[in-house]
Amino acid sequence: YETEMARLAQLNLVGEMAAGIAHEIRNPMTTIRGFLQLFRDSKRKMEKEYIHIMLEELDRANNIITEYLSLAKNKRTHQQMEHLNRIIETLQPLIQAEAVMSGKHVQFRLDDCPELSLDDKEIRQLILNMCMNGLEAMEAGSTLTVETCKEAKHVVLKISDEGTGIHEEHLEKLGRPFFTTKDHGTGLGLAICYSIAARHHAPIEVQSSSKGTTFLIRFAIRSE
Ligand code: ADP
Ligand code: MG
Repeated sequence: YETEMARLAQLNLVGEMAAGIAHEIRNPMTTIRGFLQLFRDSKRKMEKEYIHIMLEELDRANNIITEYLSLAKNKRTHQQMEHLNRIIETLQPLIQAEAVMSGKHVQFRLDDCPELSLDDKEIRQLILNMCMNGLEAMEAGSTLTVETCKEAKHVVLKISDEGTGIHEEHLEKLGRPFFTTKDHGTGLGLAICYSIAARHHAPIEVQSSSKGTTFLIRFAIRSE
C-alpha cells in the first residue's frame, strides 16, 4: 500500500511538471519543424537525408511530450457506463494489424460482462500500451491473448503474452516513469497504464514467468 502511495505521488509530481513545461517546449519545436520542412526539398541528397532524420526525431520528441502529458495529475477523466468488450472490439483491428506486421497472433476471449464506469479514451490507451508491450516481448509465432472475465463483484481485463517475462527485480519498478529495458523505450507506457487504472480505482496485478506475462486489471461492478 505504501509503495502504491509513493508511486501515485511520483506520478502526480511528474504530471504536474509535464503540464507546466510541455507547451513551452512545443512552441520552439514547432518553429524548428516549420523551417526544416522548408529545406526538405533540397536538391542535395545528404541534406535531404539529414533533414528527414531531424524531422523524425522532432516527431519522436513530440510524441514523448504527448505521452508525458497524459500523466498529468489534474487531467480530467470522463467516465461513463460502458461495456469494456465494446471498447476492446473497436481496438481489435488495430492490435491485429500490429501483431501481423511482426508475425505474431492475437486472440480475444470476451466474456459477457456488465457495464462499468469507464473513460473509453483512457481505457483504449491502457489496453494499447499493454498489448504493445506484450507484442514487443514475444518472438514471431507467439500469441497475445486479450480476455475479459466476470467475477462476483469485478470484471477482469486480462492481457497475456508468451514473451520473455519480467525479471523479478524489475517487477517493483513497473509503472515507474522512465523505467525501461528497451534501447528506444520511453518507459512511459506502463506509468500511463498505472495512472489510468488508479483513476478507475482498478488495481493491476502482474504474473510473470519465463513463459510469459499476464496483466490483470480488476474493475469493480457498480451495485445499484
Ligand atoms: P517501454 O515499453 O517504452 O520500455 P513501458 O512503460 O511500456 O516502457 O514498459 C516498461 C518496461 O517494463 C519495459 O521496458 C519492459 O522491461 C517491461 N515490460 C512491460 N511489459 C512487459 C511485458 N509484457 N513483457 C516483458 N516485459 C515487459
Ligand atoms: Mg511500452
